[in-house]
Amino acid sequence: MAGRTISFEFFPPKTAEGRARLRETWQGLGALKPAFFSVTYGAGGSTREGTLETVLEIRKGGHEAAPHISCVASSRQEIAAQLERYKSSGIRHVVALRGDLPSGLAAAGEFRYASELVEFIRKHSGDWFRIEVACYPEYHPQTRYAKDELRHFKAKVDAGANGAITQYFYNADGYFRFVEEARAAGIGVPIVPGVMPIGNFSQLARFSDACGAEIPRWMRLKLEGFYDDAASIRAFGLDIVTALCRRLLEGGAPGLHFYTLNHAPLAAEICRRLAL
Ligand code: FAD
Repeated sequence: MAGRTISFEFFPPKTAEGRARLRETWQGLGALKPAFFSVTYGAGGSTREGTLETVLEIRKGGHEAAPHISCVASSRQEIAAQLERYKSSGIRHVVALRGDLPSGLAAAGEFRYASELVEFIRKHSGDWFRIEVACYPEYHPQTRYAKDELRHFKAKVDAGANGAITQYFYNADGYFRFVEEARAAGIGVPIVPGVMPIGNFSQLARFSDACGAEIPRWMRLKLEGFYDDAASIRAFGLDIVTALCRRLLEGGAPGLHFYTLNHAPLAAEICRRLAL
C-alpha cells in the first residue's frame, strides 16, 4: 500500500469539550502521518464558525490541514474575503463545494454550482490553492441522468480542481466503474474514495438516505439485525469497511479519505488492519 495517501475529515466542534476531544482525535490520528486533515464548512450561520480556527489549531500542531469552503448562499465578496483569510493564514489547500442549504432556507447567493466556485477561486487566487472537489460514484441525489454526473464533475476539473474526493459508498465496483468512465471522459485528477466507518447504524442510515449513498440490502439487514448490540455493529462494520478499503487500494485507488465524525478509533483500527 506504499505511496497511497490517507486523510481524515472533521467537522468544527461547537463546544470547549468538543474542541478538547477533537484535539485528542487529531493528535492520535496524526501518528498515522496523514497527507492532510480536512474540516467541513456549513452552508450558513453557526455551522460556518470554527472551520478556520480548527484548521489553524491542527496546522499549529504540525499537520497539514485543509478547510472546506462552500458557496451556496454566498456572494462573491464573501467568498473573496474567506479566501483572503485562508491566504493570510498560510493555507494553500481547500476542498471546494457547493454545499446544501439547511431546509427552510431559501436559496440565495451568487454561485449555483461548485464549478463556479472553483472558477472563482482560480480567478481570485491563481494557483495559490490546491483545490479538491467532491464527486459521486453512486450519483448525487439531485442528478437525474448518469451522464450528467460526469459532465458536471468534469466542469469542476476543467475549472481548475487538482483532485477529487468521493461521497462514501460500500460498493467497490461502482467506484472502479466511475473512475474508468471519468478517465474515458478526460478527467485525469486523482479520485480518492471517501470512506465512512460504521459505528452507529441509525445515524448511517439517516446520512445515507440524505446523501444518496447506498447501504447494500445484505449489509442493512445484518446491521438492523444487531439491534442495539454496539459491539457486533462495530465488529461487523470494521470487517466490511476494512475489506472495502483493501479492495479499493489493491484496485489502484490513490488513497483513502475517512469521514471520521470526529472520532478516531474506527478509522485508526481500519488503518492498523491495512498496515497503513
Ligand atoms: P456540485 O458539483 O455543484 O453538484 C451539485 C448538483 O448539481 C449535482 O447533482 C450536479 O450534477 C449538479 N450540477 C452541477 N453543475 C451543474 C450544471 N451546470 N447544471 C445543472 N446541474 C449541475 N457540504 C457542506 O455544506 N460543507 C462541507 O464541508 C462539505 N464537505 C463535503 C466533502 C465531500 C468530500 C463531499 C463528497 C461532500 C461534502 N459536502 C459538504 C456535501 C456537498 O456540499 C453536497 O453533496 C452538495 O449537495 C453538492 O456539492 P458539490 O460540491 O458536489 O456540488
